[in-house]
Amino acid sequence: MSVLQRSQTVDVGGGRGRLAPDHAASLRRVDAEVRALIGRDLDINSAWRDPATQQKLREAYEHYLRYGAPWAPIALEPDDSVHCKGGAIDTDDHRDPRIVRILNRHGWRQTVYRNGRLVEEWHFERFANRDQHRFDPDPAATDPEEEDMFPVIYAKPSNAGTVYEIKNGRKRGITAVEWALIKAAYAAAGQKVPYARGRVTAEQLRGIPNA
Ligand SMILES: [Zn+2]
Repeated sequence: MSVLQRSQTVDVGGGRGRLAPDHAASLRRVDAEVRALIGRDLDINSAWRDPATQQKLREAYEHYLRYGAPWAPIALEPDDSVHCKGGAIDTDDHRDPRIVRILNRHGWRQTVYRNGRLVEEWHFERFANRDQHRFDPDPAATDPEEEDMFPVIYAKPSNAGTVYEIKNGRKRGITAVEWALIKAAYAAAGQKVPYARGRVTAEQLRGIPNA
């Protein structure tokens, strides 16, 4: 793992910063579990840091070591910092042991020990080989907000001549020409038209709002 430039990292959403792509994918899986538990995504105060920012933090820490004040958190040189490699997060959710257990299962571990004592309990780094969920599907691909979750369906009531296109919970009557073109397009793509002929009643169709 090396220090990453901004363009090598991805936004993790919610103004929480950026991570290396692999670690960001893990965070999406963590977020899904944390949301199920407490109704929001994981809290993050700091994730990827650009080397210049880390250098300033390092200097603040060195000043603290030398003069004893003002207090500054432990900060490594940019080349040694896992924050700069896009694989570390600082989170206030370390206070909830249920969330720490979720993070641990996903390979995120607290690593800042001094003399055998955990001194920065908010700092987690991800170890991919300890992630029990690293081969799980990416929740981003099954985000219910994605339009793909609402497939298009074509339906013709048993007692009517018009075919309707039903999409995103709304219906639209299509012309015979459109219908022929749609069928041709599906055939060209080697796919079966999602067509419910005669299985939807006129009554049921009336209940679906017009597009
Ligand atoms: Zn940290």
